[in-house]
Amino acid sequence: MLAAAASAGPVHPIFVLDPEALRRHASPNRHAFLSEALHDLDASLQRLGGQLRILAATTSWVDSVTSEATRIGATAVHCSADFSGFAQRRLETLERALEANHCVLHRHPGVAAVPPGSVHTGSGTPFRVFTPYFRRWSEYEVGRPIAPATLRTAEPASPDDRDQLDAAIAAAAMTSPGRPRGGETEARASLRRWAARGLAMYGDRHNDLAGDATSKVAAALHFGCLSPREVVVRFRDRPGAAPFLRQLAWRDFFLQVLATRVDVAHTDLRPREFAWRTDDDAFAAWAEGRSGYPIVDAGMRQLRSEGFMHNRARMIVASFLTKDLAIDWRRGAAEFERWLCDGDIAQNRLNWQWVAGTGTDSNPHRIFNPTRQSERFDSNGDYIRRYVQELGAVAAPEIHDPPPLVRAALGYPMPIVDHAEAIAEYRGRLSGHVDG
Ligand SMILES: Cc1cc2nc3c(=O)[nH]c(=O)nc-3n(C[C@H](O)[C@H](O)[C@H](O)COP(=O)(O)OP(=O)(O)OC[C@H]3O[C@@H](n4cnc5c(N)ncnc54)[C@H](O)[C@@H]3O)c2cc1C
Repeated sequence: MLAAAASAGPVHPIFVLDPEALRRHASPNRHAFLSEALHDLDASLQRLGGQLRILAATTSWVDSVTSEATRIGATAVHCSADFSGFAQRRLETLERALEANHCVLHRHPGVAAVPPGSVHTGSGTPFRVFTPYFRRWSEYEVGRPIAPATLRTAEPASPDDRDQLDAAIAAAAMTSPGRPRGGETEARASLRRWAARGLAMYGDRHNDLAGDATSKVAAALHFGCLSPREVVVRFRDRPGAAPFLRQLAWRDFFLQVLATRVDVAHTDLRPREFAWRTDDDAFAAWAEGRSGYPIVDAGMRQLRSEGFMHNRARMIVASFLTKDLAIDWRRGAAEFERWLCDGDIAQNRLNWQWVAGTGTDSNPHRIFNPTRQSERFDSNGDYIRRYVQELGAVAAPEIHDPPPLVRAALGYPMPIVDHAEAIAEYRGRLSGHVDG
């Protein structure tokens, strides 16, 4: 995008803070990550001879972009195409507003490695099933993104509101102490360190909860600190890269589902008669890591302390909320978005739907037994001990389901629900035998 803009003439890089987006996705962790990413981007642009202007929209994002473009006499605005309903509506409104001011909007691919709409089924429709999508995704020729070597800057410079962003972040009390730092510099360094050993071992180790062996690039991809195209191009010929690239394909898959069904950020993709429960006490116990299932509590406590959770733990905690507690996936997704640095509408909501059985999983009634998952993916209990301090002195196998006397002595709660009973009830509700 920047290369295309720079090849056409002087550029005026801006980031406009959208009060509506900040309100919709209020998350101190994500705002802090964004702020760091913008500072880092500014430093990179300055090295190229440019500068980033951070502007706070006073009325609306569209008004701010349009008036800034008009003020400097821009004839074109370049941006990344984005695909949530909110983003698509916002770009359409911007396009019309710019047109009225004799300015053209150029949307560039870059949010995905394989942009939504580039591959489709034989009948020309978007894919709803991952395996055939992945086949086509693997055949697609992903091109290397191009970066400009220097920038010519447009004059005059505008005021900059970055102090407002920094002040808002400083005022936000609750960032997670272990959250990752935002920005391209940090993301590149971290990916390089991880890839040196982690890429080749990814296939064997990515499900190992305690091993913490995944790349942790999700937030950097979400904020554009790293280009998914660049990651694919860089790794595709490296030994052992296939399972890692497959995960990046999942990311593109969900994005192309959302692009044509923007409603599935809120509504079930696979409509189903299912009465969810409203049990605020159970929800709070789940969210705060007090469910009495050590593996569930470890996952939820990792989320709060790091703004991140291991994928295997995400599946376990999401299954527990939607299948054991029968609580609506939308509440779980909102809780994730409150804490995750990588909280991303397509990935978060469609993964939640996948686990809840309302999404793209061809086996929608899949159940994750939390204790069996714990024994299998955290066999020594190291992941649990890392996050559930009360159980720090409990060894495996007891740690996966400590006896009542051990729980009482350590101040660790009893399970809030019996898994076997809850799942029997879930199955009954599905077949209409038990009322919601
Ligand atoms: C309930 C639930 C909620 C989730 N919410 C999000 C979210 O908000 N944002 C997000 O990016 N991912 C989400 N995921 C997917 C996955 O858990 C994360 O992408 C992954 O844990 C991020 O860690 P990583 O970067 O170390 O991943 P790695 O294992 O190193 O994978 C590399 C990249 O592949 C992509 N990827 C991996 N797994 C998936 C997947 N299942 N679906 C889509 N893309 C994937 C991500 O971009 C990830 O960064 C969610 C999964 C579940 C089950």
